Amino acid sequence: MRAHGIEVTGDSTPRAPLANQVTLGDVYSGESREHFVFGHGSIIEKAETEILVAGGGMAGSAAFRYFAEAGKRTILVNYDRGSTWRCIGGGRPAFSNPDISDIAMHNLEIFRDDQLHCNIDLKMTRYVNLVHDDATYRSLDASRAWSEAYMIDRKQFTEKISPYWNPNDNTYSHALISENCWQATPGRTIEYVRTVGKQHGGQVMEDCEVLHVERAGDKFRVLVRRHDKHYVEFTCDHFVNAMGWGAEKFTDMLGIDTQLYPVKHQAFITRRLPNLGAGGDSLDMIIDRRHYKGFNAVYGQQFLHTGQIIGCASPDCDANETRQNLKYNSLAFLKVVSEMFAQWIPGLASVGFHAVWAGYYIEPRYIIDPEVGLLTGLRGHGFMLGQYLAKLYVDKYLGKSVPAYMKDLAIGGKGLSENAFQ
Ligand SMILES: Cc1cc2nc3c(=O)[nH]c(=O)nc-3n(C[C@H](O)[C@H](O)[C@H](O)COP(=O)(O)OP(=O)(O)OC[C@H]3O[C@@H](n4cnc5c(N)ncnc54)[C@H](O)[C@@H]3O)c2cc1C
Repeated sequence: MRAHGIEVTGDSTPRAPLANQVTLGDVYSGESREHFVFGHGSIIEKAETEILVAGGGMAGSAAFRYFAEAGKRTILVNYDRGSTWRCIGGGRPAFSNPDISDIAMHNLEIFRDDQLHCNIDLKMTRYVNLVHDDATYRSLDASRAWSEAYMIDRKQFTEKISPYWNPNDNTYSHALISENCWQATPGRTIEYVRTVGKQHGGQVMEDCEVLHVERAGDKFRVLVRRHDKHYVEFTCDHFVNAMGWGAEKFTDMLGIDTQLYPVKHQAFITRRLPNLGAGGDSLDMIIDRRHYKGFNAVYGQQFLHTGQIIGCASPDCDANETRQNLKYNSLAFLKVVSEMFAQWIPGLASVGFHAVWAGYYIEPRYIIDPEVGLLTGLRGHGFMLGQYLAKLYVDKYLGKSVPAYMKDLAIGGKGLSENAFQ
C-alpha cells in the first residue's frame, strides 16, 4: 500500500468491539433474583425457630444471649471472623455525645458482670490523649466537662504514662488522661456471652454461612450452608442482621438501603513485653491525634495478661480505605506505627511485630433497629458498645421500655454522632 502512497496510521473506528454478547438486561433486571439450585437428590433440611441472629461478632453474640435469656428459641449463625476478632480490645466512657457515654457506662457494667462469671481479662485502664498543638489542647481540655479526666504536663510523662517515655521528645506539650476506661479479650468475651445464650437454650451454628434471606409473609426464610456443607432452610419470626462487613448483601435482598460502608483499619501486636506503664502497670491506651503521613490517629495499649502492645492507625481519608482489601498491610501503616511507638518509648524500636492485620469499621453510623432487623454499623466502637446496644435491640423488640435515644438509632433516625474524638 505504501507503494501506492497509503500509510496506515491508526484504527479508523476507535470504538470497543461491536460483537459483545452481554445485554443491558443481563446486567440489570429489576425482576430477577439470585436463587440457589441444588443437585438432583440433594436434601435441604427444613427447620423453624423464633429468632435467627446472623453474624456472631460482639453485637450478634450479645443479641443471641439476650434473646435466649428472654426465653426465645434462638439460633446464632456465624461464618468467618469479623471486626470483633480484629479489634484492639479497648473501651472508654468518654464521648462528647452524652447518649453514647450512657451506652458506654452500661457496657462497662455488663463487662464487669461478665468478668464476675468468667475471666474475659477485664482490666480498668486509662486513655492518654497526647496534645501536639493549641487547638488539640483546647478541645481536650473542653472535654473534661463531659469526662472524668485531667491534664498533665510533659514533665510528668515519665511518672504518669511510662518510666520508659522518651525524655528528649518535645512533640507533645501535655496529655489528657481519662479515667474509667477498660480492656478485655474479644474472643473470651464472645465465648462467654455465647455460653450464656446456650445455657438458656440457644443454639450456635459456627462456621455456617447465611446464603440467602427473603420475606415469607410475616416470617423470614433463611438459607444456611452448614459447616458440613449441608443446607438448612430456616423459617423464623425475626431475622437479625448483625453481619458487620457482610450485612449489606442481605439488606439488599430485603430491599433495605442502609448507606453503611466498610472502612479498612490496620492493626498490629508486638511480642510479649514486661509491663511498661506507670507504677509497674501495663501501658494505658496512648493516642496521638495528629494528621500525619496519611493517618489521623495512632493509638495502642498493652494487654496486661500477655504484655503485648496492640495498636492501630486510622486513615486520614475514609474514602481511600472504603472496601479495601483486608489481606495486606500497607508500608505507610507499618512505618507510621513504628515511628510513633518508637518515638514514645525508644526501647520499642527493637521489639518485634508478632502479627499485623486489618479489619473494617462499618461507617458512618450505628443502626440498632428491630423494626428492620438491623444491628450493625458499629464503627470503631462495637467491642466496647456492642453488648448494651444488643440488649437495647432485644428490649425494644420485646416491647420493654428503652431510652429515648433508641429513636435516633433507628434506620430513619438521625443517628448518634461522635465527632469530637472518634
Ligand atoms: C483494627 C480495629 C481495631 C478496633 N479497635 C476497637 C476497640 O479498641 N474498641 C472497640 O470498641 N471497637 C474497636 N473496633 C471496632 C469493633 O471491632 C467493631 O465495631 C465491632 O467488632 C463490630 O462488631 P459486629 O458484631 O457488629 O461485627 P463483626 O465483629 O464484624 O461480626 C459480624 C460477623 O458476621 C459474620 N458474617 C458476615 N457475613 C456472614 C454470613 N453470610 N453468614 C454468617 N456470618 C456472616 C462475620 O464474619 C463476623 O464474624 C476496632 C476495629 C478494627 C478493625
